[in-house]
Amino acid sequence: MGTKEIDLDLENKLIVKAYRNVLKSIRRTITREDKAAIRKAFEISLEAHKNMRRKSGEPYIIHPLAVAQICAEEIGLGVTSVICALLHDTVEDTDITLDLLRLKFGDKVALIIDGLTKISGVLDQPDKSIQAENFKKMLLTLSDDVRVILIKLADRLHNMRTLDSMSPKSQLKIASETAYVYAPLAHRLGLYAIKSELEDLSTKYLQSESYNYVKVKLNETKTQRNKYIRNFIEPFIQDLESQGLTYEVKGRPKSIHSILQKMKKQNVSFEEVYDLFAIRIIIDTPIETEKSDCWKVYSIVTDYYTPNPDRLRDWVSTPKANGYESLHTTVMGPKGRWVEVQIRTKRMDEIAEKGYAAHWKYKDNGQASDNGLEGWLSRVREILESPDSNAMDFLDDFKLALYTDEIFVFTPKGDLRKLPAGSSVLDFAFDIHSDLGINCIGAKLNNKLVPISHQLNNGDQVEILSSSKQKPNEDWFNFVITAKAKSKIREYFKQIRLKASQMGKEILERKFKNSKIGFNSDNLQILAKHYKLKTVSDLYYKLANEEIDRTKMDIEAILIADKNKPADIQTPAVTKPKPAANLPLDAVILSENEANMPYGFAKCCNPIPGDEIFGFVTIGEGVKIHRTSCPNALALMSNYGYRIIKAKWANAEELPKKAFVSSIKVSGIDSVGIVSIITDTISKQLQVNMKSISITSNEGLFEGNIVLEVLDTRQLETIMLAIKNASDLISVNRIDLS
Ligand code: MN
Repeated sequence: MGTKEIDLDLENKLIVKAYRNVLKSIRRTITREDKAAIRKAFEISLEAHKNMRRKSGEPYIIHPLAVAQICAEEIGLGVTSVICALLHDTVEDTDITLDLLRLKFGDKVALIIDGLTKISGVLDQPDKSIQAENFKKMLLTLSDDVRVILIKLADRLHNMRTLDSMSPKSQLKIASETAYVYAPLAHRLGLYAIKSELEDLSTKYLQSESYNYVKVKLNETKTQRNKYIRNFIEPFIQDLESQGLTYEVKGRPKSIHSILQKMKKQNVSFEEVYDLFAIRIIIDTPIETEKSDCWKVYSIVTDYYTPNPDRLRDWVSTPKANGYESLHTTVMGPKGRWVEVQIRTKRMDEIAEKGYAAHWKYKDNGQASDNGLEGWLSRVREILESPDSNAMDFLDDFKLALYTDEIFVFTPKGDLRKLPAGSSVLDFAFDIHSDLGINCIGAKLNNKLVPISHQLNNGDQVEILSSSKQKPNEDWFNFVITAKAKSKIREYFKQIRLKASQMGKEILERKFKNSKIGFNSDNLQILAKHYKLKTVSDLYYKLANEEIDRTKMDIEAILIADKNKPADIQTPAVTKPKPAANLPLDAVILSENEANMPYGFAKCCNPIPGDEIFGFVTIGEGVKIHRTSCPNALALMSNYGYRIIKAKWANAEELPKKAFVSSIKVSGIDSVGIVSIITDTISKQLQVNMKSISITSNEGLFEGNIVLEVLDTRQLETIMLAIKNASDLISVNRIDLS
C-alpha cells in the first residue's frame, strides 16, 4: 500500500485562503464584533474537525468553509448564517455540545444548529414512514427559522458538487434524494440557480450517459448560439440606448436536466429542442420606474419581433408567491425560431437567482415588498398542525404542493386568493372556510353555475353556493388537490366513522344483553372473524351502516359453531421466498456482494440491454432490475437507498441471444392502411417479433400499443425510426409504464 504524501503547509494555506474568501463574500457591511464571532466559529470548527478528512482526502474543514461560502455568496445570507454554516456539523460529528455553542454565540445560533443537527438524519431512515415523519419535522423547523433550510440546501449543494469521491451506491442514493426533495424545495423557495444546479448534478449521476451527451452537444453548439443571440439583439440595441436604458443581455442555455426532460416528453432529438436558451434583458433602473421600464423594453423588442400572445407572463404586476418577478414573452426570432425573452431589473434578477435572502437585503434598505414567504409558511404550518396527522399523506400532499404552479382567483368581494394550479371549486371553498367546504354544492363562476368539481382558471371570480344538507362523499377526493381540502374531508370521514362505530357498538351490546352472552373481546373477535372482518370496530361500523343485518345475526349460533371448529392448523410464520419471476439469464451483472442473488426485470419499465439500470432488492423476489429513468426509480432510490444495488449489462458478446420485451406507443392521423404500414415495417422489413398489437381509433386519430421482442435499445431505436420514416402521419414513443 502506498501512502499519499500530504503537504500540510499547502493545506493550511488553502484553508486560510478559503476562510478569507468567505469573509470577502459577505456583501453586507460587517462590524468588528461580527468579524470576531466568525473567526471564533472558524477556529472552533477547525479544532473540532482537526483529525477528520472527507472521502476525497481533503481536510474536513474545507466542507463547512465551502457551505459558508455558498450561504454568503450564492444565497446572499449574512453573518449569523455564516457562523452556523461553519459549525453545522460540529454537534453531530464532534465533541462540541449545543450548550457550548449557546454560551459562545447566543440562543439564535444554538437554535439554528440544533435544527440543522436534527434534520441531518432526515431521509437516511430506511423506513418510509419514519422518513416522512422526519420530513415533517424538518418543515416544522422551517417555521422557526427558514435559515435552517437554506443552510441545509447549501450543505446539500456542496455535497452534490463533490459527489465524485463517494461510492457509486451512495451516489445513486444521494442524487435521487436530491432530485426528490431538495431540488423541489429550492424551487419552492425561489432559489432558481440552486435548483437547476441540484437537478443537473442529480442527472449527472442518475442518467450519466444522457447527461454527458447533452453536455457535449451544448458545448459544440455554443458559438452558434452566441452568434444567434448577437443577431437577435442587434436591431434593437439602438432603441434601448436612445430610451436612456442601461441594460445587459444574457443568453442563458436551459439546464441539462430541463433539456433532457423536453427531449423525453416530446420525444425529440437535441437538435429539435427549439428553446434551448432564453434571452434575458436586465435593466438597471430605480424601483419607482421598474414596471414602466420593463414594459418599455417589451414594446421595443416586439417592435422587431412578433410576440406569441399565449406566452406572455407578467410576474411584474403580480409576483409569484416565492417572490419571483419578471416579464416573459416568446417572440418569433430570426430563422423562424421561437425565442423566449425575459425582461427584468437588476433587483428582480438578483431575487430570481438568490431567492428570499435577496429579498431581505432589499427589505433592509427600507424597500419592503410582500414576498409571500409568510403566507407560504403559514400554509405549511396549517398542514402540519391539522389533526389528521398521517405523515405519509402529508408527504405526498406536500410534494404536490412543491411542484405545482399557482393560479389567482377572486372572491365575490374582489379579494385575491392564491391556489395551486388545477384547484377546483371545492378546493376554493375549503380554502375560505372548512364549513363552507363541507356544505359546498357548487359555485357561481363569473355568474355562471358550475359544479363543485369544476377546475378554476386564473382570474376567475368565484361565489360558493352552499347548503346545510350537503355532506361530503368519497368522490370528493377526486375533485380536490389542495392539502387543506384533502385533510378536512379525511377528517370529516373519520368523525363520521367514529360516530357510526359508537352506534354499532351500542346495537351489539344490546343484542348480547338480550341473548345473555358476555360482551367481551374474545366473543367479539369470533364474531368479527365470522363476518371476515379484520377488526371489531369494522364490525361496529358495518352494523351501524346496516351492511350487516342485525336482525339475522344469531350470536349464539356463531359462537357455538366456532367452538366446534377443528383447531387452526398452524401456518409457518416465515414463508419461503418465492424465486424471481424470470430466473438468471446472465444478462445483468450485479455488484460484488449481491452477485449471486436471483434477479428479474421490473414490469414497470421493462429494461432492455442498452438502458441505464440499477437493482432493487425486493422482499422475497430477489433483485428487480429497473431503468434509472423508470418513473418509480426516484422514489425507490430515495426512500429505500439501502436496498439499491449497482447493476450493469453483460458485455455484448456474453449477452444471451434472447429477446427482451419492450413496448412502444404509436399515434397519429388515421389513414387507410396505417395498421398494415406499421406491421409490415416491423415484421416484414425488420423481421422483429410482435407479441401483441392493439390500435384504437377515435375522431380521425389513432393510438396503439405494440409489444415487441427486441435484443437491445439499438434495435428498438432502429424500429422506432423505421416506423417514423414509413409515414409522416405517425409518431412513435417508447412506453415506460406497461
Ligand atoms: Mn455537512
